Amino acid sequence: MSTRSSHAAFIHELDAGDRSLKASIRQYRRMVQTVEDGVMVLDADNVLVFVNQELADMLGYSTDVLVGAPLTTFLLDDQAANAAPGRRPRLSVSEESEIKLQAADGTCRWALVRSIPLFDGQGHFCGVRARVSDMTALKQAEAEVARLKDQLDNRRALFEHEVEERSHIEEFVATVSHEFRTPLTSVRGYIDLMLSDPDLPREQQERYLNRLLANAEHLANLLNSLLDLSRIAEGHLQLTLEPISIQEKLDQLNEAMAPQFSERGVSFKIELQDGGFDRSALVTDGECLTRVLSNLLSNGCKYTPAGGQVTLRVEADPESVWFTVADTGVGIPAIEQDRIFSKFYRGSNTRRLGSRGTGLGLTITKSLVELLGGEIGFVSQEGVGTVFRLSLPVVPH
Ligand code: ADP
Repeated sequence: MSTRSSHAAFIHELDAGDRSLKASIRQYRRMVQTVEDGVMVLDADNVLVFVNQELADMLGYSTDVLVGAPLTTFLLDDQAANAAPGRRPRLSVSEESEIKLQAADGTCRWALVRSIPLFDGQGHFCGVRARVSDMTALKQAEAEVARLKDQLDNRRALFEHEVEERSHIEEFVATVSHEFRTPLTSVRGYIDLMLSDPDLPREQQERYLNRLLANAEHLANLLNSLLDLSRIAEGHLQLTLEPISIQEKLDQLNEAMAPQFSERGVSFKIELQDGGFDRSALVTDGECLTRVLSNLLSNGCKYTPAGGQVTLRVEADPESVWFTVADTGVGIPAIEQDRIFSKFYRGSNTRRLGSRGTGLGLTITKSLVELLGGEIGFVSQEGVGTVFRLSLPVVPH
């Protein structure tokens, strides 16, 4: 059975359960209304002048005890206030209400009370006659139905959540397969081309081999990014938190990134906030920080045309260190800005620039920053550039 039809069958089953519970309650309510009711008559001062056997049995008293006793004998506190001596009797008008009564053994009973006022020959109010139906079992059944309904609702929510998760996984697997298939098809194509022509000129061969290499690198990047994502999602990424020297980190980054920038003809500058702050004060996972900053810098480089500039600026206050990566590149269209941290999302600017990538870099970057206890955001304007800014706590909480 497909996921969709098993889902529908399950929901149908839950609905049927819900309907049959409601039908049982309706049936029970009818039953309650047909059994013998309690009856009582009160005088104008709320003193019981008549109580039938059914009402006495319902409350666990004998009729003798009740006759002559005040109504407050078995009314619970909140209702008793209305019937206290000197107050206008609560049951003085025709009404039907569900109230709680207290039985002789202290337990509480729910009752449906239908009362009508009594008048003497001169039209003066002289008391109340009331029918009292025991609703306790019905109330208990209703509470049980509410509990079962909650249970059903919880199961339904859980099931729907599982179905949604499963469809996310299916979507993810489909996307990953597509991402792998595209470069693999290209690899196959170049190999076929080379095999089909043994006399291929040397430059042609080199061109194809370089494309094969680029595809192989892309596949390796994709695989590594997927492994990173899964490690982060499973919580298997072990952080090593230790004091790091910001100055040293920046020197390493400068050295590692410089070739990429000069190859692309983009200038790269690092700025450190003047004076004051301790350049070895940050406690974090140095390797994660390197990956975060390299991702942002290499994006800055990728999405900035030759002649542009990328600047990494570092500032700090007593609680946080701020890293800003600003480029003078193509920018991100406003309409795409809320999607760039999503898995596999690649913006329209990638097509214009023909840049390679997996669409996973920023997803991983954001997850790593959050793992380090920090936050990341950006502003961008098409044709002007993009500024990513992240903060890390000086000491993780
Ligand atoms: P990719 O592998 O495509 O670079 P990322 O997850 O790193 O994937 O980035 C997602 C998308 O965000 C990119 O495809 C690109 O459209 C956009 N983007 C990221 N950084 C920049 C930047 N500095 N300038 C312009 N666009 C950017």
